[in-house]
Amino acid sequence: MPARVLSGKAIADEIKAEISAEVADLREIHGLTPGLAVIRVGDDAASAVYVGSKVRTAEELGIASEHIHLDEDTPGRRVIEVVEDLNRRHDIDGILVQLPLPKGIDERDILERIDPEKDVDGFNPLNAGRLAQGYPALAPCTPAGVIEILKRSDIAIAGRHAVVVGRSNIVGKPMAMLLLQENATVTICHSRTQDLPSITRQADILVAAIGRAGFIRGEHIGAGATVIDVGINNVSDISAAESLFAPEDIEKRLAAIEKRGSTLVGDVNPREAMEKAANFTPVPGGVGLLTVAMLMKNTVSAAKIRRGL
Ligand code: NDP
Repeated sequence: MPARVLSGKAIADEIKAEISAEVADLREIHGLTPGLAVIRVGDDAASAVYVGSKVRTAEELGIASEHIHLDEDTPGRRVIEVVEDLNRRHDIDGILVQLPLPKGIDERDILERIDPEKDVDGFNPLNAGRLAQGYPALAPCTPAGVIEILKRSDIAIAGRHAVVVGRSNIVGKPMAMLLLQENATVTICHSRTQDLPSITRQADILVAAIGRAGFIRGEHIGAGATVIDVGINNVSDISAAESLFAPEDIEKRLAAIEKRGSTLVGDVNPREAMEKAANFTPVPGGVGLLTVAMLMKNTVSAAKIRRGL
């Protein structure tokens, strides 16, 4: 039987409806409008798309948003000044610096300057430390979105074996911490892991955050597993596409390559995952949609916490 497809859209829409109602209550009862500032440096095309979607979603939900766009050659110290200005502003509850930053700017230096109470991406080391110690923290949006997908799809986490492939500070590590907080038994794998399939096959929940198109194959997936595909990659090669997509999907994918030059695929081979897994998140239409919804959720949480509500 093919895997059940876990729709990120349905879950993201549900979360956004909850946030919109909460924002309306905050305005009505407390006269408060949460404020989100997004800083983008340079002209990376993908970053422009991501920032556009964040600002648009904030507006849709009644969150005040501000997009600050700085030139590619802005020095790091100027970016820090902008962050510190926003740290001081009372009307701003959330600050996000869109990554990647242009070469020459030290990302860590900037992220460490964001007030931890306004750190809605959850990348400040103080929030990462709180998360690791099991204290309330603003958690990174993508892994927090994965937890929402699992919970809202009634997939048990406590006591299950979760295997996370990838150990970045943005996805892999916080993903492992959140799964641990939910009482999973967690294994983290990375590029130096030996005999990866023998470990991933043991997973009840397998999270792929690797950055390599279709890397997780059928041989990595155990029977009955839930496979969460965090990856976002472009495939432009037609023969690669033919080995990745199911026959019923292939025509649409080849048409996309012809029209736009590429099609999106995650870090999991979707054709093989659909055959082997019990549950699977599609790309596009899976985890990616949750990332923006969780950013809005973090912004509202930050607004409430900062104002003691
Ligand atoms: P990074 O490149 O920072 O990390 C990749 C991780 O994968 C590393 O820990 C690396 O191990 C591991 N890895 C690489 N090759 C292998 C291998 N052969 N076997 C096992 N592990 C391997 O990527 P990110 O964590 O930032 O992103 C991961 C993916 O998620 C990307 O596809 C990205 O586009 C996507 N993404 C999606 C988001 C969304 O909203 N859906 C948001 C953020 C990212 P090592 O540490 O040893 O090098």
